[in-house]
Amino acid sequence: MGLTTTRAVILHTYRYSETSKILRLMTYELGPCSALARGALRPKSRFGGLLEPFVEGQATLYTKRGRGLHTLSSFEPIGEYRQLGVSLDSFTIASVLCEMVMRLAPEHRDDDLYATLIDGLEGLHNSEGSDSNADLKYVWALVDTLGFRPELDECVVCGRSIGFEGARFDFSAGGLQCMDCAPHGPGMNSAEIRDLRALVGGGSVETHGGQQARWLADFIRYHLTEGANLKSLPFLRALG
Ligand SMILES: [Zn+2]
Repeated sequence: MGLTTTRAVILHTYRYSETSKILRLMTYELGPCSALARGALRPKSRFGGLLEPFVEGQATLYTKRGRGLHTLSSFEPIGEYRQLGVSLDSFTIASVLCEMVMRLAPEHRDDDLYATLIDGLEGLHNSEGSDSNADLKYVWALVDTLGFRPELDECVVCGRSIGFEGARFDFSAGGLQCMDCAPHGPGMNSAEIRDLRALVGGGSVETHGGQQARWLADFIRYHLTEGANLKSLPFLRALG
């Protein structure tokens, strides 16, 4: 058994016995892992009620070889993300980020993935749920880091360059179709096309509400989770 100290984000927790918790963590040094926090549910736990999703801390772990259950020795918070609970939209988007990392992160250290997750949680904390459409960019950033990015400049069928008018988002084909290739179904207006490109590129949006959250949720379900619904995806889909 070894001892490792690493930055770590709590992705998910569940109760284990009367007094303990098991944490799903994304750690900087070890990648994703699980850890037992003994006594975390006792009133006078040394963890002090800090072991909640979205919190980043300096975690010290007694580590086992392989991917077994580690044991948490200490956890000192670095950032405080629990204000996310104030805004349901921020909470929903943070839940999607954490669930995607939990389900899809490679089983090893991944600096880009860790940084993208922290960027998203910090961004959500700072925006305080003021514009859920704008906050979708943090999820698109994670989608991109996981190796998926929609094609938004050329038609996915015929390859024609697409400007700002006349397109349809075909999530299963992985991007935009021109109106010749997709004459049926609701098209996107120029503001929607511009905003989708902005969100995927990490920029700011000019419209609020609409279909952006639905397009993102459909893209994730089809490409990243192979049809399986993350628990948080229906809530993401309902935003906007
Ligand atoms: Zn086309």
